[in-house]
Amino acid sequence: SKAEGRGAYRFFESQMDSDVRERRMLELELRQALKEGELVLHYQPLVSAEDNQPSGFEALVRWNHPIRGLVPPSEFIPLAEQSGLIKQIGDWTIEAACAAATAWPDDLIVAVNLSAKHFQLSDIVAVVAAALDKTGLPPHRLELEITESLLIEQPEDVIEKLRRIKALGVTVAMDDFGTGYSSLSYLLKFPFDKIKIDKSFVTASSEDAVARDILRSIASLGKTLKIHITAEGVETQEQVDFLREIACNQLQGFYFARPLDEMDLAGYVLANFRD
Ligand code: C2E
Ligand code: CA
Ligand code: CA
Ligand code: CA
Repeated sequence: SKAEGRGAYRFFESQMDSDVRERRMLELELRQALKEGELVLHYQPLVSAEDNQPSGFEALVRWNHPIRGLVPPSEFIPLAEQSGLIKQIGDWTIEAACAAATAWPDDLIVAVNLSAKHFQLSDIVAVVAAALDKTGLPPHRLELEITESLLIEQPEDVIEKLRRIKALGVTVAMDDFGTGYSSLSYLLKFPFDKIKIDKSFVTASSEDAVARDILRSIASLGKTLKIHITAEGVETQEQVDFLREIACNQLQGFYFARPLDEMDLAGYVLANFRD
């Protein structure tokens, strides 16, 4: 009936209100969290495929919430992107990662994930330059990981900024390679230093011959274009053997190490480096 319909509509409306309210609350909390130092970086080793030696770490953000515990980025980065807070979070992440890396052995790099939204909202070249300047990290020890979603909207403008970032001496990696639509054309438009093959291919490779063929093709593409290839999400010895066989350059995944908090990272560095 008509009355029931209106009731349902009202219910829907108030449900929506409460969703919006909850989002606003979370956003407020997140803003506060950044101020209170509740955001932390964990670091996952990037390992040379040739000799198993770590060549650096990828910084992965977490929210150390006083009640909810360690909140993964999938639960607050999208919100930060919607609200614009990603600008402050992104600035913080770049600087904190650079600062952390200054305490590591000299030959280790730090890789930082860059949100496309952050890239668009800020003068990203200045942000990166300022972080290097403030922390004193040599530019070649910083790598920025971007996804191709960044290149879709204003490719010319983005490519120009990426060139300026590379001119600083920072390296640039394409993350989640293979999940988008036109990855190949972007590889020709911009000189990426590295391709990170999305972990879905690595996971599938254990069961699926087509996934193995795709991995083989990407590895040979890397060789042709002289771009480093990293495989992420490596979990088994079998995957390691296969990725070595097809000559991937770098491996990353739970098989080697999970993302480590600062304490565990210190232990990992001690165990793997003697100098
Ligand atoms: P990503 O950049 O593709 O990062 C890889 C994700 O896979 C990480 O999840 C990592 O913990 C997880 N992972 C690593 N090895 C394995 C493995 O062997 N098996 C499986 N199943 N998973 C593995 P995490 O830390 O939850 O991050 C998820 C996503 O959140 C990242 O995907 C990235 O897109 C985003 N993210 C993380 N940190 C940041 C950040 O500081 N800034 C921005 N803008 N985004 C971030
Ligand atoms: Ca990444
Ligand atoms: Ca990835
Ligand atoms: Ca991903």
